[in-house]
Amino acid sequence: MRITVVGGGVVGLSCAHRLAEAGHDVTVVTAAKPGDTTSAVAGGVIFPPVSANSDRIDRWTATGLAEFRDSAAPGVRLLRGTFLTSRVAPLPSWAFSIPDLDHSPGRLTFTTAVVDTPVYLDWLAERVAALGVRTEYRVVSRLDDVDADLVVNAAGLGGARLAGDSTVIPVGGQVVHVADPGLTEWIVDDSSPVLSHVIPHGRHVVCGGTQEPGRDDVVPDPGVAADIVRRCRELVPALADASVLGTKVGLRPFRPEIRLDRDGRVIHCYGHGGAGITLAWGCADDVTDLADGG
Ligand SMILES: Cc1cc2nc3c(=O)[nH]c(=O)nc-3n(C[C@H](O)[C@H](O)[C@H](O)COP(=O)(O)OP(=O)(O)OC[C@H]3O[C@@H](n4cnc5c(N)ncnc54)[C@H](O)[C@@H]3O)c2cc1C
Repeated sequence: MRITVVGGGVVGLSCAHRLAEAGHDVTVVTAAKPGDTTSAVAGGVIFPPVSANSDRIDRWTATGLAEFRDSAAPGVRLLRGTFLTSRVAPLPSWAFSIPDLDHSPGRLTFTTAVVDTPVYLDWLAERVAALGVRTEYRVVSRLDDVDADLVVNAAGLGGARLAGDSTVIPVGGQVVHVADPGLTEWIVDDSSPVLSHVIPHGRHVVCGGTQEPGRDDVVPDPGVAADIVRRCRELVPALADASVLGTKVGLRPFRPEIRLDRDGRVIHCYGHGGAGITLAWGCADDVTDLADGG
């Protein structure tokens, strides 16, 4: 089947990969290069939104964890780390699939993949090309205009616009890259009013962050950057002398629930919020099943 995937972030490229592996004739149409997408801003810890307990989130998370655990992709490595939360909630069901999980109230410690997203996305784009997928750089204005047997709408925030879906909102996130002093653990602190995270990738550490619903620009704020660095140095004192390398902003495509369904010759797959790196492979499997009539 001739399939066009609209979107060249982590979700679109993962879908293109699985569809090409399944034998389809795939084209990716994207407005931006992989390194200029929201996906390339993500800190890259592989775990789902802790509060989102649902069967499909569990399934997609398990697929993502397995895929990245066995991955030979550059930019991907396994690290132990800690998630701190003030929410009093039962242990999320996905956590039971993690073999080395230690947990106490407000604290989960486990090994997962951390993904240096720009490096990983470049590799993924090369893998997709090696599978015979063509990439066209242009903006799609209407899904109806796309010449293909089947269209996969994996365009993140743009996907919501293409589908006329007003339930998706951008949630801005700013991160600061600092030099990695050799950290061996990641940490995400969701126990304070503002979420902070420190995610080491070898040469640099992604420090964050912010959650800014309704934000529509990606211009970094120097004051916010300074506050992020301060918070992360408090959380991980080993960062005290780490030099600042740069700062980035991305707009997470938040939807009350991820949209993954088929409507005629269009399969929609967007709205992954703050967990698209984690969930992309699992969603790509479901998109491929829908394409094949499942
Ligand atoms: C600060 C921050 C930290 C994050 N940390 C994590 C994390 O640790 N773990 C995790 O799992 N997730 C994380 N995320 C979330 C993750 O980045 C997103 O869920 C994910 O990037 C969404 O991927 P996507 O492919 O749907 O969208 P995008 O990456 O935005 O890609 C959309 C693609 O569609 C294209 N496009 C859009 N409209 C059109 C159009 N009309 N025509 C043609 N092309 C179009 C764009 O050019 C782009 O190629 C984080 C996000 C941010 C901002």
